[in-house]
Amino acid sequence: MAIATTDPRTGQVLTTFDELTDDQLEDRLARAAAAADSYRLTTHEQRAGWLRSAADILDKRTEEVAELMTLEMGKTKKASVAEIGKCAAVLRYYADNAAGFLADEEVDAASVNASKAYAHYLPIGVVLAIMPWNFPLWQAMRFAAPALAAGNVGLLKHASNVPQTALFMEELFRDAGFPDDAFQTLLIGSGKVDAVLRDDRVAAATLTGSEAAGVAVARTAGEVLKKVVLELGGSDPFVVMPSADLAAAAKVATTSRCQNNGQSCISAKRFIVHTDVYDEFVELFAKEMAALVVGDPMEDGTDVGPLANEQGREDVEALVKDAVDKGATVLVGGERPDRDGWWFPPTLVADVTEEMDMYLEEVFGPVAQVHRATDIEDAVRIANVTRFGLGSNAWTNDPEEQAVFVRDLAAGQTFINGMVASFPALPFGGVKASGHGRELAAHGIREFTNIKTVWVG
Ligand code: NDP
Repeated sequence: MAIATTDPRTGQVLTTFDELTDDQLEDRLARAAAAADSYRLTTHEQRAGWLRSAADILDKRTEEVAELMTLEMGKTKKASVAEIGKCAAVLRYYADNAAGFLADEEVDAASVNASKAYAHYLPIGVVLAIMPWNFPLWQAMRFAAPALAAGNVGLLKHASNVPQTALFMEELFRDAGFPDDAFQTLLIGSGKVDAVLRDDRVAAATLTGSEAAGVAVARTAGEVLKKVVLELGGSDPFVVMPSADLAAAAKVATTSRCQNNGQSCISAKRFIVHTDVYDEFVELFAKEMAALVVGDPMEDGTDVGPLANEQGREDVEALVKDAVDKGATVLVGGERPDRDGWWFPPTLVADVTEEMDMYLEEVFGPVAQVHRATDIEDAVRIANVTRFGLGSNAWTNDPEEQAVFVRDLAAGQTFINGMVASFPALPFGGVKASGHGRELAAHGIREFTNIKTVWVG
């Protein structure tokens, strides 16, 4: 894919960028390695100061950066503004907490025949982050804030359709006062990732994106024995039981499915409803979905903008067509409008069966599918049927049912009577084909550290 800013509202290419040459890439890797040598010696207090400065810059430049993000990938401007606020929050979170998360952990010295023994967290060096366009600032910040707070150096290979947001990240950390080259953006296509990851100066990698990209990066990381954190796709279940507040569940279901124009790994995608409340819930859900305002993402009143790229829209359209051809019922939306750009309307599909591709595949657009469950065992069975295991939502006011969902839903996260979201203070990640490792919280910052055992006789 060419490295370019293309307006998803029209499909018009606005700005193109040259990929780094091999010499330029070599220069950047050398600079990253040099930066890692000295940056690891900076103190937690210094890093916290720079992180806070970066948050302050985001506060000041919110409007301008939000417009850039919306221009590059089509999310609503209000969503971009919220995303920037979240990025500022995660920077401040690690400024406040990194020293505590990485403090020495002493064990009972006598039990290990020592005078003193403890776990000590050290940075591991240069970490390569391969990031997607869907939350163009947040996904990269979720990596960068803890990595820099831990004393690591960051190299960002961002998605090829958000180059200006990617370049802004480098500028942000420079302007915040971080040492030169502590964080660099590499304008390279995915074809160069393999070579960068194999380079001895790169210690580890993190990738958020598709399964295919995750497999490619994990394969290389395995061959060169480097740590990798993967945050891949999801097809999160959203289970509604009879005791739930159905009106609230229908509203949250709509937000979860259509936020970010339906392009979020933790969107609820499959709605599994107990048969006793199926008809009532589906009617409420259809009303909410049909009421969403589709339009220019720069406008305040818009709920859903275009999809980010042409391929993404084609994939979504093909999954809906496949389901309809095999007998699914479209209750809302279902057809792309006849206009330029990559639009697809909020869509609700019922009567989805195992033969349809969307039963097992992730639909990365504002398309919800509803399923009928006979009881809680059936709901859990349908919820766990895909190979994904990122987030899960369960709506019930029965404490025993809540406990069953927490125990039995095969996912990295279970949210009860709410919608899966990421918070700086909660670990984030998946199981099965949704990836491995955790981001955020104390767990995230420790992923890219050398947890050194220190034993003193
Ligand atoms: P990709 O996984 O293709 O892109 C994500 C990042 O990985 C980009 O930086 C991309 O670079 C890079 N990349 C792609 N292929 C490789 C590879 N073989 N080796 C190394 N790096 C690679 O996502 P898409 O944007 O194409 O979206 C397709 C699907 O991915 C979606 O339908 C969805 O299922 C999933 N996805 C999941 C996300 C999540 O949040 N978990 C986010 C975005 C997508 P480049 O842009 O240069 O190709």
